[in-house]
Amino acid sequence: MATSTLVLPSTASLIDPFGRAITYLRVSVTDRCDFRCRYCMAEDMTFLPKAEVLSLEEIDRLASAFIRRGTRRLRLTGGEPLVRRGIIDLVRSLSRHLRTGALDELTLTSNGSQLARHAGDLAAAGVRRINVSLDTLDPEKFAHITRWGRLPQVLEGIEAATDAGLRIKLNMVALAGLNEDDVLPMLDFAARHGHDLTMIETMPMGDTGEDRVDRYLPLSRVRAQLEARFTLTDLAERTGGPARYVRIEETGQTLGFITPLTHNFCESCNRVRLTTTGQLYMCLGQDDQADLRAVVRAAPNDDHALDAAIEAAIARKPKGHDFDISRRGQAPAVRRHMSVTGG
Ligand code: SAM
Ligand code: SF4
Repeated sequence: MATSTLVLPSTASLIDPFGRAITYLRVSVTDRCDFRCRYCMAEDMTFLPKAEVLSLEEIDRLASAFIRRGTRRLRLTGGEPLVRRGIIDLVRSLSRHLRTGALDELTLTSNGSQLARHAGDLAAAGVRRINVSLDTLDPEKFAHITRWGRLPQVLEGIEAATDAGLRIKLNMVALAGLNEDDVLPMLDFAARHGHDLTMIETMPMGDTGEDRVDRYLPLSRVRAQLEARFTLTDLAERTGGPARYVRIEETGQTLGFITPLTHNFCESCNRVRLTTTGQLYMCLGQDDQADLRAVVRAAPNDDHALDAAIEAAIARKPKGHDFDISRRGQAPAVRRHMSVTGG
């Protein structure tokens, strides 16, 4: 029965059937983007009708339900989160959970194109770190990879974010024959500006009109190239996420590797993902999902049903993913695009 005040349900932490506490939520706040990166989107993407997309209020309510149940880190992603109208209002609203201490971190993954405009507001709202995707420092290659992106705009955004006091982690997708030569310049750029750098293997998600098998560059190859020049020491440090870290002894830098296709990181997985349309994916690499939008819309003022739906979904979190680019050839292992699920 609908009432005018929100009835708050359980605050017990969410533990999946394999004993993993779910403490990290990624939310895709829009499927739209001002870039068309070749590994992520087709050039002529069709985007979701507005009615299907969660409103900012619905996102806030869903995220807050997870925070009540023990989510400590919240990452807004997309699509490009900073192209969603009202995004700063959402960040400001969610930042109340930072102030109460319920949330340790509120952060974003961005392509950087709108950062120059928003960095100050993000910092003022309590965002401390952001991930910025940057695959190359070569303007022509950047334009080729992102199709619609322009490098100077992104570099300006990164500079504005740094000036606003935000820590930056650069995410670089490794693309065979495209940015293999860019690893050293990227390391140098990161070192000079004090940014962290993580490399990501391409994942077969969604049809992009591009041949992924050709572009697949195992990070073991990148590592071997680096080892010909530097001494790499494996670090024990893990963040609960898929990245493994090495220290480059000669420069003292830390470099992250995310290798979803060649390594198994599932045993420590603490995360779930909420799509633009309110589907909760318990695993990035599996198709099972729970429709939380339907639950939220059916009971606008009572979070009990939502809470039960979240619990039921977490009880189905699978042990691990099912990516294998070599066996699947051209077909994407997971049909939905990363921009809908949230990378
Ligand atoms: N637009 C923002 C950005 O580019 O950072 C956030 C969304 S984007 C989908 C999140 C991350 O996923 C980016 O770092 C992007 O490089 C990565 N990504 C997209 N498609 C991918 C794929 N097929 N394989 C691996 N990483 C991918
Ligand atoms: Fe947009 Fe990010 Fe996908 Fe590139 S990776 S098309 S910036 S959502």
